[in-house]
Amino acid sequence: MSLSEQGYNELERVFHEKDAAWLQERRARLDADRKSAAAKSARGAHWMVCPKCGSGLKEENFHGVMIDRCGGCGGIYLDRGEFELLEKAQHGGLRRLFGGR
Ligand SMILES: [Zn+2]
Repeated sequence: MSLSEQGYNELERVFHEKDAAWLQERRARLDADRKSAAAKSARGAHWMVCPKCGSGLKEENFHGVMIDRCGGCGGIYLDRGEFELLEKAQHGGLRRLFGGR
């Protein structure tokens, strides 16, 4: 093996190592992307779906408070903080909301 061949092989080895590192990094990034996409679609599967009957929930503004009302069973769901907001903002609001109209 000549000196120049040796030098070439050494260069090739370095390139291979760089490629391997690049591939590893790329793989890790793709795995992370896939994981976050899976997490997103898992959330999407039950996002705004009634936990009781599986019908779609419709967002409604109730005296400035956003409520999610089920189109199927009529169940009402509140996001975090909305219940407290409703209670504070509207005296008797809860009675009106849950007591029918
Ligand atoms: Zn429902």
